[in-house]
Amino acid sequence: MKGRSVYVAGHRGMVGSALVRRLAQEDVQLVTVDRREVDLCNQAAVFDWFAKTRPQVIFLAAAKVGGIVANNTLRAEFIYDNIAIAANVIQAAHQNGAEKLMFLGSSCIYPKLAPQPLREDSVLTGPLEPTNEPYAIAKIAGIKMVEAYRSQYGCDFISVMPTNLYGPGDNYHPELSHVVAALIRRFHEAKVAGAKSVVVWGTGTPRREFLYVDDMADACVHLMKTYSGSELINIGTGEDITIAGFAHIVAEIVGYSGEISFDASRPDGTPRKLLDVSRLAKLGWHATTSLEDGLRRAYEAYLTSVPVAVR
Ligand code: GDP
Repeated sequence: MKGRSVYVAGHRGMVGSALVRRLAQEDVQLVTVDRREVDLCNQAAVFDWFAKTRPQVIFLAAAKVGGIVANNTLRAEFIYDNIAIAANVIQAAHQNGAEKLMFLGSSCIYPKLAPQPLREDSVLTGPLEPTNEPYAIAKIAGIKMVEAYRSQYGCDFISVMPTNLYGPGDNYHPELSHVVAALIRRFHEAKVAGAKSVVVWGTGTPRREFLYVDDMADACVHLMKTYSGSELINIGTGEDITIAGFAHIVAEIVGYSGEISFDASRPDGTPRKLLDVSRLAKLGWHATTSLEDGLRRAYEAYLTSVPVAVR
């Protein structure tokens, strides 16, 4: 990467902005472009911009993302936008001789009932979790493009699969966000309002693994520098927790001391989603931010994003 022009696609998103923070420590020329100027779903706009800019190294962190409700209801947008972004950027990178590209997938590409922890080779061995199937299929298409461009054209393109991520720059929409941002907001608002009870979706029994986004960015930079190969690489902590246990930790960090109840009429999603991170460990990386520390930082970042009156 040294001295190279490095393009972060999706630099305004949670992961992309963490990559921008992390890359500030590297000797690279950072390249970004705003959505108003180049819509990554627009093939002609992407091809023109790549031909003009010719970035040498690419982090493909742009995606349409959201929590269980967003995935389950905006099904057409999730499949179309994510396939278009992957197809346009990967093809443009190849056409313009990019030296290296990293595609960011997701742990939801693995079958709903695959053995846990989820190994990279379990992809396409069984049916997907229905609530996020369109998103997962789009991400699987991206992974397969990366594989195909490596085998047919010899491109040094790699794919990484992050677990559930959280941190500064998350989306706090009450319905459409992921669980971490949703609960930080809900517990905070309950604390400020002096509410006695907070509802958490589902049964509380599903298990999830959470990785702080700055750890994710650090792992990506590490792999970009050191890894070249056709195998997927999972990025996670290797530890998971029930949603109920997680909700109690968030409540404590936010300082909410009322009741927590569970609404089983809301979807649980996949029962467990823990990544096998042994490949990543062999490649010399492990997460360093504990869930508590990460949540404290995420909560601070949330507080700076809300008006003073509701802090
Ligand atoms: P998933 O990992 O793809 O299922 O994505 P989410 O982050 O949206 O959901 C993770 C788990 O948290 C699921 O079991 C949800 O039912 C549960 N959950 C509990 N409360 C909430 C909430 O307020 N919002 C979201 N998005 N999920 C919640």
